[in-house]
Amino acid sequence: MREAKMSAAERKGYFGEFGGSFVPPELYEVLEILADEFEKYRNDREFNDEFRYYLKEFVGRENPLYFAERLTKTLGGAKIYLKREDLNHTGAHKINNVIGQILLAKRMGAKRIIAETGAGQHGVATATACSMLGMDCTIYMGKLDTERQALNVFRMELLGAKVVAVDKGQGRLKDAVDEALGDLVENYQHTFYLLGSAVGPHPYPTMVKHFQSVISEESKRQILEKEGRLPDAVIAVTGGGSNAIGAFAHYIDEAAVRLIGVEPDQAATLTKGKPAVIHGFKCLVLLDEDGNPQPTYSIAAGLDYPGIGPEHSYLKMSGRAEYYTVTKEEVLDAFQVLSKQEGIIPALESAHAIAYAKKLAPQLSKEQLIIINISGRGDKDVEQVYGMLKK
Ligand SMILES: *Cc1c(COP(=O)(O)O)cnc(C)c1O
Repeated sequence: MREAKMSAAERKGYFGEFGGSFVPPELYEVLEILADEFEKYRNDREFNDEFRYYLKEFVGRENPLYFAERLTKTLGGAKIYLKREDLNHTGAHKINNVIGQILLAKRMGAKRIIAETGAGQHGVATATACSMLGMDCTIYMGKLDTERQALNVFRMELLGAKVVAVDKGQGRLKDAVDEALGDLVENYQHTFYLLGSAVGPHPYPTMVKHFQSVISEESKRQILEKEGRLPDAVIAVTGGGSNAIGAFAHYIDEAAVRLIGVEPDQAATLTKGKPAVIHGFKCLVLLDEDGNPQPTYSIAAGLDYPGIGPEHSYLKMSGRAEYYTVTKEEVLDAFQVLSKQEGIIPALESAHAIAYAKKLAPQLSKEQLIIINISGRGDKDVEQVYGMLKK
């Protein structure tokens, strides 16, 4: 974790022209308090020790940086390492951020956690950690999504959470977010809104990065132990951008390390987006001809969002990080290749990163090193892939 103080720009939540906080005054005040409290605890010894304790004892960190020997041989280029976020309890990186934010909520005296969820992954991670830490938990989910993801609704309820089906608007993620924000403004004195990705108004992008940066803190130490040098490239999938910013964080100041984000070609926010304000912050957004956010589509539920974290928007515009798209076919192929060659079934989201690594590795020499962030495991996706491949 970074020891340095936040820079002035970061404190206001700006990354170049991106980020900020474009919200109604009553919400702005609540977020200011949150930003102050986060600033207070981010370098607090006791708080960080507690965070580390649960990452180790509950999540099972540190997870391996695994040498993918067979995949490396097949591709015949750079040496490939996999950062195994899929081995975390609950099966993905999301739990890192969730635990960090709940511990902060407790320090702030909150008794109640609220969160939004689309497909249910963030909701399940939140319900899990709330159960473990004894917090009251309410998850807002669009009504349509609750119908499509009935099993995840049951999972959250099993974990003790209350799931509110939002029957407004289109009954999707955006409506769930609006409802959750309404709840926060009304109940902020004892309620904490737990946001699931490196998006939203300040301080969320900075806070989520802070908690997810454990990924690159570990991978940097691990690659130095194994190879005695830094990687040539770090590759991660970008939905809202939280696993990618966590996987990049400790390499951003290492100019020789290429940072590569991968997105679905039908939700190519960074590759094709334009600067705009969406959901309370400025970032690159996919806009239609009238300047409205475009509906996106991805076979991976966790990537279906027309915006992207403000820091990724900045890393793209400043040229520090590179972003590429992959097709659905390439993702399905990568999903199967990692399963067959390494005995690891990746999440469809993570398969985007693998798909790009498959193209990059053969272009590099055998002495070069690539780290792929395997953001989650694919058990949740097996039935869907079965439907796509066998029918
Ligand atoms: C949610 C999710 C993502 C996308 O979210 P980011 O905030 O971009 O990391 C990627 N992979 C998995 C496994 C997820 O669950």
